[in-house]
Amino acid sequence: MATMEAITERNRIKTITTHYIDGAFVESHGREVMDIIKPTNGKVIARVTLGDEEDTRRAIAAAKRAFVTFGRTTKEERAGYLRRLHEAVSARIDDLTAAMVEEYGGVVRFARLIVQSGIDAFPAAEKGLDELPLTRSWGKTTVTLEPVGVAGLITAWNANALFICLKLASAVGAGCTVVIKPSELSSLQTQVMLECLDAAKLPQGVCNIVTGRGNVVGAELVRNPDVAKISFTGSVAVGQSIMRDGAATMKRVTLELGGKSPTILLDDAALEQAVPSALVLAFMNSGQACAAGTRLLVPKSRLDEVKRAIRDEMRAFTVGDPADPKTAVGPMVSQNQYERVQSYIRKGIAEGAEVLVGGEGRPAGFEAGYFVKPTVFVNVKNDMTVAQEEIFGPVLCVIAYDSEDEAIRIANDSKYGLHSSVLGSDLQRARRVASQIRAGRVVINGMTDDPQAPWGGFKYSGFGREYGQYGIEAFLETRAILES
Ligand code: NAD
Repeated sequence: MATMEAITERNRIKTITTHYIDGAFVESHGREVMDIIKPTNGKVIARVTLGDEEDTRRAIAAAKRAFVTFGRTTKEERAGYLRRLHEAVSARIDDLTAAMVEEYGGVVRFARLIVQSGIDAFPAAEKGLDELPLTRSWGKTTVTLEPVGVAGLITAWNANALFICLKLASAVGAGCTVVIKPSELSSLQTQVMLECLDAAKLPQGVCNIVTGRGNVVGAELVRNPDVAKISFTGSVAVGQSIMRDGAATMKRVTLELGGKSPTILLDDAALEQAVPSALVLAFMNSGQACAAGTRLLVPKSRLDEVKRAIRDEMRAFTVGDPADPKTAVGPMVSQNQYERVQSYIRKGIAEGAEVLVGGEGRPAGFEAGYFVKPTVFVNVKNDMTVAQEEIFGPVLCVIAYDSEDEAIRIANDSKYGLHSSVLGSDLQRARRVASQIRAGRVVINGMTDDPQAPWGGFKYSGFGREYGQYGIEAFLETRAILES
């Protein structure tokens, strides 16, 4: 007979079995069941039934049918749908934040900002659409921007709800219909998003969600000739496979991939602001952020001061329960991610980097769950593995430089080019440095955001842009009609 404890445990576990296809919650055709593990204690909190190729094809067929009408909607109609989506997702900000905290250990103070940023994507797309001329004519020529067709939106786990909102806002603004393949590790967030889509009451088939594995649902989206475009957020390796496999059906692709972002601390920086800013950039989302500023470039003349300031400031970067608003760094998402971070810390030490703060193993008092020590390496050379590869955890590399030119050279000496940052008192100089960094975004004097500003990478960080007008353009084709 089951004990009371076992029964309570079973009742606590959520069960998710549906996708959202053609305007309805639909039981999964796929039968594989996956456990969702709570990263703070390693226990099962949900069981999700994953979709298969058949679920995906049904969703694609629904999106294809819906596109016939939706692809011809006016700007005003699309703006109305964006407002409905905005309203529906705004109403669930608490639930989405709670799901992020629960299923991947996102720290609540950051998770809420992330969800808000997703919500902001809808009005940003509305504004972008309003300002984007969809028709231009001269003489006997008319040029129109047309929705590309059915779009497959594939997201990473680390800010799943944000990525869904971003991609959805751009696609709907452009007049595309979509099949969303969220990260299978984010099923609780996805469940809330399913309910948001239903509440928004868009025309049947415009937005569909199928939860499933990348090599099953994702691969079908990439392969299927009825899907015209893939917008992907995730790792370089999967991005490359999407580009390769998508070529067979001439897919348009937007790839939002990894990063190894530099933060250049200039020699005139006020350390009492610059060092906390650099640490926030490094440890955002517990370091599990594509934009994390994981290489801090420091002038040799100020290195000792900066090291002292880092040691002091790191006391504020407390590890703990992600649901506690005081916590700055939560657990890693999974056992794999925990092992990955540990192996990079060992590699850094083996290559000669020196641990200033943190190091290998779990923080004291955290025996369960996937907690790691926020770690700062000094004496790092930019060609070390820890300075070149994306760790996706709370590990910061401090690299010393002699001159401004050398700092810029080191910043750009990376295969990535997603995000970067410049910290300094002389704004003209900071701008001059920013203009020489090969990255899709450079922030000056601290992390900041603008939902109209494009987001995306140079080099291996991918291509295409998201947010506002730039995001919508990525879902459009250009057609010219000429009269003789
Ligand atoms: P991932 O590449 O493993 O998975 C991303 C998504 O792709 C998931 O939904 C997964 O199921 C799917 N997928 C896997 N194999 C596939 C296939 N063969 N075909 C189609 N889809 C497939 O990445 P992840 O571990 O979820 O996320 C971490 C990575 O994402 C990091 O590299 C990080 O830098 C990157 N990222 C980039 C951005 C950005 O905006 N540039 C934002 C967040 C995360």
